[in-house]
Amino acid sequence: MKTAEIKRRYLAHFEANGHTVVPSAPLPAISDPNLLFVNAGMVQFVPYFLGQQTPAYRRAVSVQKCLRTPDIDEVGKTSRHGTFFQMNGNFSFGDYFKSGAIPLAWDLVTKPVAEGGYGLDGERVWPTVYLDDDEAFEIWRSVGVPAERIVRRGKADNFWSMGIPGPCGPCSELFYDRGPEYGREGGPAVDEDRYMEFWNLVFMQYERGPGSGKEDFPILGDLPAQNIDTGMGLERMASILQGVDNLYEIDEVRPILDRAAELTGKRYGAHSGHVASESHPDDVRLRVVADHVRTALMLIGDGVTPSNEGRGYVLRRIMRRAIRAVRLLGWQERALPELLPVARDCMSPSYPELAAEFDRISQYAYAEEDAFLSTLRAGTTILDTAIAQTRSAGKPALSGEQAFQLHDTYGFPIDLTLEIAAEQGLQVDAEGFRRLMADQRNRAKADAQARKTGHTDVSAYRSVRDDGGAVEFTGYSELSRESRVR
Ligand code: ATP
Ligand code: MG
Ligand code: MG
Ligand code: MG
Repeated sequence: MKTAEIKRRYLAHFEANGHTVVPSAPLPAISDPNLLFVNAGMVQFVPYFLGQQTPAYRRAVSVQKCLRTPDIDEVGKTSRHGTFFQMNGNFSFGDYFKSGAIPLAWDLVTKPVAEGGYGLDGERVWPTVYLDDDEAFEIWRSVGVPAERIVRRGKADNFWSMGIPGPCGPCSELFYDRGPEYGREGGPAVDEDRYMEFWNLVFMQYERGPGSGKEDFPILGDLPAQNIDTGMGLERMASILQGVDNLYEIDEVRPILDRAAELTGKRYGAHSGHVASESHPDDVRLRVVADHVRTALMLIGDGVTPSNEGRGYVLRRIMRRAIRAVRLLGWQERALPELLPVARDCMSPSYPELAAEFDRISQYAYAEEDAFLSTLRAGTTILDTAIAQTRSAGKPALSGEQAFQLHDTYGFPIDLTLEIAAEQGLQVDAEGFRRLMADQRNRAKADAQARKTGHTDVSAYRSVRDDGGAVEFTGYSELSRESRVR
């Protein structure tokens, strides 16, 4: 079943059950000053859940565009994490609760394909519930799930809150058993690769007080109105229904991966089995390329442009990771003109505006790639000089200072320095490099403290930030192709 059809069936199922279809909010989280990007379907409904606004409907359904940069290091290495993904969700604002939400989900998941459902074998679906949520447990029993396939899990896995005082409650997640070729038997608590989470049903039931972390807060009492918030990963369901190993192989992503493989002369999957975490590094890189190129398309499509701060910086890092992965796969020329149109063709059936606006989108993307490629070229010359000097001095390793300067001044990624040095039979003083990085980070922290900037938590983006350097690119205001190196 095509991804677009999975999405259509979701909307149709819930619309037939009295839900209003609400369009996706754009990826930039404009309504929430604490969030750079929308990371779940419920984000646009938060004012309803907090009781600050009254919705015009009591039941809603949406397919929300999401971005989760904290998942970036998982991309390609697990079967189920994208930076961009789509979250199907149904919502109840003080209307139905657990006894409505569970049968609605179960019905769609197990209804035969010929009758508009997803036709999953119910015996391969494992629900989890919160430790003491006997109510949810009994409802799963009543739709026909045997007790031994309903797993009780603690607060870290099955209790939801927004991290601040407000609504909270237990959740119940659906896992699909992909079979023994994907890992060990025993349910989601044993192996989350074999048993893949695909749907989270959140039961907003209580009011929580202040406290820290995911687990340490008091429950103040019941909410005046109980709400339902669910999220089903569209790409995860597509990977199940399309019988592929991971979400980089579904119809909306695979063609980008294939084009990248063609370009770089790699045979995807030649050395890998079903389990993503055991894949050959080239396969992981091809998945990273496919994921990140699609993400860049969706971000620029929603008005984000590459820059040195905030959302634009996240986009820049994601694009550079994609470009660098292509180079590591062996293609040194411009890659985006080959890959971005493929991503557009994958996504425009669901998002026609991407085709209509492709000229604008591709101009930003191609200019960014050109700027980064010239950064890499400049860095490569400096690196070659450093290597020659190191050699003639008879030293075994590039100094930490040299690696740091390349990173800091020329935006030259450290792993590229390591790789090129290794090719030349040299090491790099990685310890010294790390020390200089830490010094710089501490200085930046002190700076930020001094400036007392807003309270946005950007720690989640650190991994994106860390793999490149500081390059100021000034070409975008006038869309020229010039870049200035700081
Ligand atoms: P996981 O434990 O696999 O990281 P999660 O518990 O973080 O998933 P939720 O926050 O419960 O995910 O989000 C609801 C649903 O959205 C998940 O059940 C999954 O289907 C989907 N989802 C979450 N993160 C991603 C991602 N990075 N890429 C694709 N789909 C995702
Ligand atoms: Mg997660
Ligand atoms: Mg989870
Ligand atoms: Mg979850």
